[in-house]
Amino acid sequence: MTAPECRTPRFLAERLYGLALSDIRRMSRESDRVGAINLGQGICDLPTPPVVAGAAKAAIEANHSTYTYPEGNRALRDAIAGKLLRDNGIHANPETEIVVTLGATGAFATTVNALLNPGDGILVMEPYYGYHLNCSIVAGLEPQFLTLTPPRFTLTEETLRAALQPNTRALVICTPSNPSGKMFDRAELEVVARVAHERDLLIISDEIYEYIRFDGRSHISPATVGGLAPRTVSVMGLSKTFSITGWRLGYAVAPEPMAQAIALVNDLYYICAPNPLQYGVTAGFALPESYFAGLASDYQRKRDTLCDALQAAGTVPIVPQGAYYVLADISAWGFTSSTGAAMDLLERGRVASVPGSAFYRGTTGESLLRFCFAKDDESLAEGCDRIRRFDPRPRGTIR
Ligand code: GLN
Repeated sequence: MTAPECRTPRFLAERLYGLALSDIRRMSRESDRVGAINLGQGICDLPTPPVVAGAAKAAIEANHSTYTYPEGNRALRDAIAGKLLRDNGIHANPETEIVVTLGATGAFATTVNALLNPGDGILVMEPYYGYHLNCSIVAGLEPQFLTLTPPRFTLTEETLRAALQPNTRALVICTPSNPSGKMFDRAELEVVARVAHERDLLIISDEIYEYIRFDGRSHISPATVGGLAPRTVSVMGLSKTFSITGWRLGYAVAPEPMAQAIALVNDLYYICAPNPLQYGVTAGFALPESYFAGLASDYQRKRDTLCDALQAAGTVPIVPQGAYYVLADISAWGFTSSTGAAMDLLERGRVASVPGSAFYRGTTGESLLRFCFAKDDESLAEGCDRIRRFDPRPRGTIR
């Protein structure tokens, strides 16, 4: 095959036109290339709790190597139902209303394919997580946007109504949000409820960072506010909770008929999530509550370390309320694009970040970089040192 043919596939679905590998993943490759500290992709390379790893290993040894039901192991769904009641205030029937998926991304992808039609409008809040956007595009949906403004990213009834189009069928809420760290409060979720009931919207609520929240904040699941449960799919994940991003385990929670449709798509695309790993996380749910509470305090310390370094380096960090990313305004560094800034910080500073343009349509993201603090303390400290020492304007540089 000649070089140009390699670049342009002979066959390509039109719905992929204009889509490319996300900058989140691309920066990890670039980071490996130069041997940088990777504060780009939310890899979360903290240790997996031994009880989780041990139960998965034991399941392999015990030859639990066959398929599970499409909706997942019953023991895991029981554990999830218990957790939902205890930590979220969500009542879900483990038999019919919970589907174990391949990560929260798998829950999102199966949901949009199961519950929406090509051409339906799906509203995402900007700054957005690119996978919500691009997964929706691949499902044939029409992405629509509602831009929230830092530092509080407040959602108002007026802006929500203004963003809706006649064909809007679904609203994506990500709380705590990737990349902004925004956590929606009760008043904002009541606004969502009012508008959703009036406009008959499906709510897809991505709560994968639910345990990572700061300054004493509580996580509020949208399904528990304003009668939203019958129209909500709660998308949750285990990657961040047990530091197992590579295991690809998550789940969707929804009223029975919607959950069954999601399970059907899950079966058609994936058959089921990996069985021995389901055993591993089932054991994880038995960890004491202090484990889950500890996530918040550990990450808050890491957040503060990173924000201090970013401030010392002349950026303005938008201090997150939750999740494990910081968006930092790098205007003072004087770059003309966020990709240019990210690449320069990578090449000369040996720290990977994600260009803000990955989270915005227009130019707003060009003055932002996203940094992840889900790192062991030593790597984070080294990354922070490098950020502090980074000189954005070396002598003789023209940009
Ligand atoms: N959610 C993580 C992030 O935003 C990782 C996602 C990914 O690798 N696509 O960095």
